[in-house]
Amino acid sequence: MQPKEEKTFILIKPDGVRKGLIGEIIKRFEQRDLKVVAMEMFHASRKEMDNHYPKEDKWVRRLGEKTMATYAKYGHDVKKDFGTSDLMRVGKTVRGWLLDFMSSAPLVKVVVQGVHAVDMVRKIVGPTMPYLAEMGTIRGDFSNDSPLNANVERRSVFNLVHASETPEEAKHEIAHWFGKKSPIYKYKRFGVDE
Ligand code: UDP
Ligand code: MG
Repeated sequence: MQPKEEKTFILIKPDGVRKGLIGEIIKRFEQRDLKVVAMEMFHASRKEMDNHYPKEDKWVRRLGEKTMATYAKYGHDVKKDFGTSDLMRVGKTVRGWLLDFMSSAPLVKVVVQGVHAVDMVRKIVGPTMPYLAEMGTIRGDFSNDSPLNANVERRSVFNLVHASETPEEAKHEIAHWFGKKSPIYKYKRFGVDE
C-alpha cells in the first residue's frame, strides 16, 4: 500500500454533533492535509455500537484501567462508585454506558486518508481523557471531562470523537460502517496528490 493510501475511521460522537462541532472537527483533519474520502450522518443502534467496540477482555479491562488511573491520581476510591475494584467489571459497566451514549443521538462517520492517517488523526484528536488533552487538540480545545464525574453520573466520558487506534482497527471499523451502499471515494486533492 502507498503511504498516501492509509485510511482511518472517525465517528463524531453525540456530544460533538450536539455541540455543533461537525464542521470544526472535520476542518482540523482537512487542514492537516488529510483527505476526506467518505462521510455520512446516521443514528446507530445499540447493537451496531456493540459490534463496533471490541469485546475482548483485554480491551474491556483497559477501560477499567483508564478509569482507575484517574482515581489513583486524585485519591478516589473506585469501589465507592462501582461497588467493586475488579477492573474487568468496572470496564464492562463503562462499556455499557458507552453503548448507551453512542446510540443516543446522531453520529457522523468519516473516513480520512493520508500519510500516517491513523497516528495523525489520533494526534489531532488528543488523548481519551479531555482533562489531560493539550490545547490545540480537538478534545483539549472543546471539552473538559473526567471519569471522576462521568462515573458518578453513570455515563461514559464525553470526548467528542472516536478515532481508530491502529491500521488493523481502522480496517475493521471501515468495513463495519462502510459497505457497498456507502462507498469510499477516490479523487486527487490539490496540493496533496498533485
Ligand atoms: N471511556 C469512558 N471511561 C473510561 C475509559 C473510556 O467513558 O474510563 C469511554 C470514552 O468515551 C472513550 C471510549 O470509552 O472514548 C473508548 O475508550 P478508548 O480507551 O478506546 O479511548 P479512545 O480510543 O476513544 O481514546
Ligand atoms: Mg479507542
